[in-house]
Amino acid sequence: MFIYIAGSGAMGCRFGYQLFKAGNKVVLLDKWEDHIQAIKKNGLTITGDKEDNVKIPIMHPEEATEPADLIILFTKAMQLPAMLKDIEQVIGENTKVLCLLNGLGHEDVIKQYIPEKNILMGVTVWTAGLQGPGVAILKATGSVNLQSIDPNGEKEAEKIVDVLNQAGLNVTYDKDVVPSIWRKACVNGTMNSTCALEDCTIGEFFASEDALKVVHTIIHEFVEVGQATGVTLDEKAITDYVMHTAEVAAEHYPSMHQDLVQNHRLTEIDYINGAVARKGDELGIPTPYCHMITELVHAKEHVLGIR
Ligand code: NAD
Repeated sequence: MFIYIAGSGAMGCRFGYQLFKAGNKVVLLDKWEDHIQAIKKNGLTITGDKEDNVKIPIMHPEEATEPADLIILFTKAMQLPAMLKDIEQVIGENTKVLCLLNGLGHEDVIKQYIPEKNILMGVTVWTAGLQGPGVAILKATGSVNLQSIDPNGEKEAEKIVDVLNQAGLNVTYDKDVVPSIWRKACVNGTMNSTCALEDCTIGEFFASEDALKVVHTIIHEFVEVGQATGVTLDEKAITDYVMHTAEVAAEHYPSMHQDLVQNHRLTEIDYINGAVARKGDELGIPTPYCHMITELVHAKEHVLGIR
């Protein structure tokens, strides 16, 4: 299968690498010049659970010309519209587009560029990091749940599931993926922004009663807003999932900590707590914690001069 990875940072490199090794024709698309030059010169280097190096093509999105069978979107949430504009020329009539970004509301953005029959929405618990330009750190295992947003698209989507599974990506076709997308957003909404603001690991944050009150209130706001938009969400099950994730990942700094505190980069807050706050306002559901967390992260982005 011919696949573009649209946004070939940490996660794009993981998916691109695994699909390339499985024998697909894969082209990485990115605009980070040092990363592009490193991969062109030295190949994509893999470190972590195993060491490898592959000669995989990489280019700017505007340089891609041949329509693909599949495009996997892996920019950060706020970078998605620019990427979709830049890849318009390689979106053929039957090009499937899979979105595995964290956060909420991406479907509405993608629909502006891609016909619904070709859109696959999903969620992944795979992780990845970058050591520097051209070097991806791949550790542990993960999985993907995805669904065609057009109910008639299931059969075609199953073919994509097969291709991804041949690459060891552990993918399930999910007949109702939206609750899983919300559940992951809720995990991010309880630990990403809070640990970034408090400058601590997940375990350090979840250790106090005061922090747990914040966590439970954020979960409640996500569940109330999600349910009001027609998504089936079980507050007890989501709470158990969040607490379990926090236990397993206790030693880690979440990605928003890496973005905001460690690298002074803009965050995905507007697509996590911010998305729930906006939707809550639209529906008349109060979400004071999601509002305040979003405003505090925005304020920190201002303090750092990146907003
Ligand atoms: P990343 O910042 O490492 O990668 C994004 C890449 O997209 C960058 O290399 C950037 O240069 C490129 N890019 C952005 N806009 C572009 C444009 N217009 N044209 C070309 N290239 C462009 O981010 P990541 O960690 O790989 O995360 C991607 C998404 O996956 C996010 O939504 C994140 O929340 C989610 N996610 C990440 C992980 C993880 O472990 N890293 C796990 C699950 C989900």
